[in-house]
Amino acid sequence: MPSLSVSQRVVLWNQAFTEIRRHFCCTGVQEVSTAIRVAHPAIEADIDVLAADGQFLATSPELAMKELLAHGSGPIFQIAHAFRKEAVDHLHREEFHLLEWYRLDESLDTVLNDVEAVVKACFKAAGAAGPTHWLRTSLLDLIEDTLGLALEGQESAVGLRRKLGEDASVYLAGAPEGVDPDDAGLTLGTWNAFLANWSQRHFVPWLRQKPHTGVHLCDFPAVMSAMAATSDTAWGSAPARGRRFAHRFESFVAGIECANGYRELRDSQVQRSRLENANRLRAWRGLPVLPLPESFLAALEHPGLPPCAGVAMGLDRLLMTAAGGTSIQDSSTFLMTPSYPSSIRRRSLRTTAQLAAAGLLDPASVAALEPVTHKFQVALSPTMHDVIVHEGPEGPLRRQFVPTLQELEVAPEESVDPIGDTRFSPVQGLVHRYPDRVLLLPTLLCSVYCRFCFRREQVGDPERGVLTPERVEPALHYIRQHPMIAEVILTGGDPLILSTHRLQSLVTQVAAIPHVRVLRIHTRVPLVEPARITAALVAALRSRLALYIVLHTNHPSEFTDAGIAALAQLANAGIPLLSQSVLLKGTNNDVDTLVGLFRILVHNRVKPYYLHHPDLAKGTGHFRVSLEEGRALMRALRGRLSGLCQPTYVLDIPGGHGKVPVGPTFLHGSGAVYQIDDPWGGVHSYKDLGAEFLAPKV
Ligand code: SF4
Repeated sequence: MPSLSVSQRVVLWNQAFTEIRRHFCCTGVQEVSTAIRVAHPAIEADIDVLAADGQFLATSPELAMKELLAHGSGPIFQIAHAFRKEAVDHLHREEFHLLEWYRLDESLDTVLNDVEAVVKACFKAAGAAGPTHWLRTSLLDLIEDTLGLALEGQESAVGLRRKLGEDASVYLAGAPEGVDPDDAGLTLGTWNAFLANWSQRHFVPWLRQKPHTGVHLCDFPAVMSAMAATSDTAWGSAPARGRRFAHRFESFVAGIECANGYRELRDSQVQRSRLENANRLRAWRGLPVLPLPESFLAALEHPGLPPCAGVAMGLDRLLMTAAGGTSIQDSSTFLMTPSYPSSIRRRSLRTTAQLAAAGLLDPASVAALEPVTHKFQVALSPTMHDVIVHEGPEGPLRRQFVPTLQELEVAPEESVDPIGDTRFSPVQGLVHRYPDRVLLLPTLLCSVYCRFCFRREQVGDPERGVLTPERVEPALHYIRQHPMIAEVILTGGDPLILSTHRLQSLVTQVAAIPHVRVLRIHTRVPLVEPARITAALVAALRSRLALYIVLHTNHPSEFTDAGIAALAQLANAGIPLLSQSVLLKGTNNDVDTLVGLFRILVHNRVKPYYLHHPDLAKGTGHFRVSLEEGRALMRALRGRLSGLCQPTYVLDIPGGHGKVPVGPTFLHGSGAVYQIDDPWGGVHSYKDLGAEFLAPKV
């Protein structure tokens, strides 16, 4: 159908507004208006928000309307403008109309009747016949019919993956990585990916066979409850085979989703935890973590949300469908919207094909790089992606994260385990090399995979990726049995990618071992995935232990505004921050870069701790500098940086013989008179009076 003329659009929308208002006013629902610019938008795992001068444009009026309900408004509806930062296409626009309503009735039947009445009103406004009838169907039953898979609706990510078996690679494409069964954010992300893939293969074709039937899809799995109440009872029926349901539905007209509704969750604690999980998943996807809507959560607590059900309906799509269009632009009165910017969803890049699509690799090189990516993992976080794009093709950060064919060149001296961890690993996930401290590796997953990493052949394996509570117990038992261990160093992988819950549990267990006094965490996360640093994460790290965070960073370009804010959050929480860097050819092996790096660290309250000479990991020869060059660089830093900015230049002796400082040396000679170099190249004699005093008299 050709797009409507302007006058036809005006008539269509005017008629629809009139009919909708008539329906609600005649059934006792009052119209309200809430703010468009808000301090706390609704937090959803997949929806990005538009900033508005320190606040946000509302993604829906849901939270504001529920606050009105809690304070006694009675049944209400609103035709609101809502905003979402998402790709613009025939069904999406960044600004759109949401019809939202709430009835003080916990039954979803009443609001479903509303959906059917509003659809009818919109088709009437367009002069068209609506759906001939409506069908109500159970999502979990439909999955069972199409896949032969009986799901309970509360499987963890691991459980769902296991049930899918060989089909997991198809139905969980795009799911977050991780094997932590307690990670609710991971579980939510895995189910979201499953439903998206299943819908594409089964539900969309199923809907296509019903062009004149309205469909209400109900009985969602409990793990996808968002802001809906849950129970073990399917909608209006008896308990079903151990299943747990979210009391929510989605409505479809002519194959297009036009509404979703909930029996509303009223428990503020459960709601808080679901919002935190959504934020966790947002962080994994590279979306900003959003502030929790405290005033909404307080209203849930007191006076409390009355029993109610609510629906959000996308009017642009519905009127497009009613008018027989194929694009919301065909019937819109937003005449200027084709010029709206299209935003790109932020996800980590995890394959060479994705790097090529992002312009970071020549597409012709993707096939040739397969042997590299077969051996060594790839991941580039959105934050580091932006820096690399900003730097251009010759920038120093690209070398750290984008794979090259040079990684296939392996020198005989290079090894899988260049610093000899295996020799000193009495139990899985633990390295005990020095008497008073141990490394504990709770995960081998990272936000980014560094091309020079000395554990590059271990990191990123999703199967061995996270030590489950059962698998971490032998390591904790070992620490308990060795009273000389005073310091536990969490490393990996990157410990800060673990779920907040898992981290807190681990910190608590380590803190319960009386002889452990110090906890150290080695991480790249604050700079490469700054959204992960939240108040909840900082709170999870609190314990009786002296906590130090050691930041891995190699170049001043890694310090984005968000990264600097994340460091400030840690420093403001009173956590001492140290850094370790690797001296890398082509990235930081020049004095100016190192000066910039160590200065920016100190400016952000991070004390430079170690500069590592690169380890002999396989396929890392293109990063290697000589010891002589490293010592010369360190000597040059002495003249330009304060002592506070100076790290110690160290080498891990291959084979596991420990880490030692490797210079430079400013003192030469022996006995009572030494030669000492000053930072600017001068040489001075130093008479050691102490040695003279101690020397035997003849
Ligand atoms: S973040 Fe650390 S553990 Fe992970 S790949 Fe980089 S250097 Fe290796």
